[in-house]
Amino acid sequence: MPDSACHTCPLRTPFLLTAVLAFVVLVLPVTGCDLAADPQRPGEDGRLLVVATTTMIEDLTQRLAGDVAEVRGILRPGEDPHVYRPRPADAELIHRADLVLANGHYFEEGLGRIIDQQATGTVAHLAEDERITTLEDLEDAAAPDPHCWFNVAYFMYYVENARDALIELDPDNADHYRKQAEVYLAELDELHAWVGEQIASIPSEQRVMVTGHDAFQYFGRAYDIEVHAIIGISTEQQPRPDDIRQLEQLVRDRGVQALFFESSISHALNQAIRDIAQATGATLGGELYSDSLGDEDSPASTYIDMVRYNVETIVTALK
Ligand SMILES: [Zn+2]
Repeated sequence: MPDSACHTCPLRTPFLLTAVLAFVVLVLPVTGCDLAADPQRPGEDGRLLVVATTTMIEDLTQRLAGDVAEVRGILRPGEDPHVYRPRPADAELIHRADLVLANGHYFEEGLGRIIDQQATGTVAHLAEDERITTLEDLEDAAAPDPHCWFNVAYFMYYVENARDALIELDPDNADHYRKQAEVYLAELDELHAWVGEQIASIPSEQRVMVTGHDAFQYFGRAYDIEVHAIIGISTEQQPRPDDIRQLEQLVRDRGVQALFFESSISHALNQAIRDIAQATGATLGGELYSDSLGDEDSPASTYIDMVRYNVETIVTALK
């Protein structure tokens, strides 16, 4: 593996944080490339080192790997991948990884640039799959909506793609990955059907959900519920007064019963949801987990629990 990535790429990165850039320029040319040249990569104890970007992907990777591979996640519960500022340690971890599992479609933004520059192993973008019919981002035609995991059937493609990448890099454990995937995919298949039934139990005229940022379009298309949000698919945008007024009008016109907070977005966006509810008389339907799982003590610490919790929250509020 050539070491050129260690030396050249930081020069092509105008947007990196100063701290990360300094780390990449000053530290990685020494330690990172030494690590790459050393066949005994630290921390591996002979196992594959797999780095997952989001908490959803970390969960699926853990399900597939069990303890035959070392799985390390980068985002922590509650962190927002759109605006996540990579830590210096992330660059080092990505550099050492045999496999990096990411969402793709530019979901990881800042972290994606670090992956492009620092990964020396295989990188798999699990949502970039021909079987997934992407939704356009109306504000940026070059980048499709990345929130594909909210269609559970699409998340099953994530699992298959991760399984295939693991098997390719670690064929000795192929049977293990295949068995783990089979069990997990069966659970997800059941979950997909359950979500459909639950959402269908809401009378069709009440099947309208309003959230802070536009994370639920794949969910809406898969399970037949209309989805509206204050801002678009990236949380980097600020809420605009015109958009808020339009949404208020929609809530009034359609008699939307409840609006939802999101766990991983800014306080300002959740406050805007609160303001719209107050202005329109709609109720607050609770908090949905959008771009991150919850922590261990939450009801949404795994992908399956997160989907179940969100759906129960939606059905309770809108039915
Ligand atoms: Zn998002």
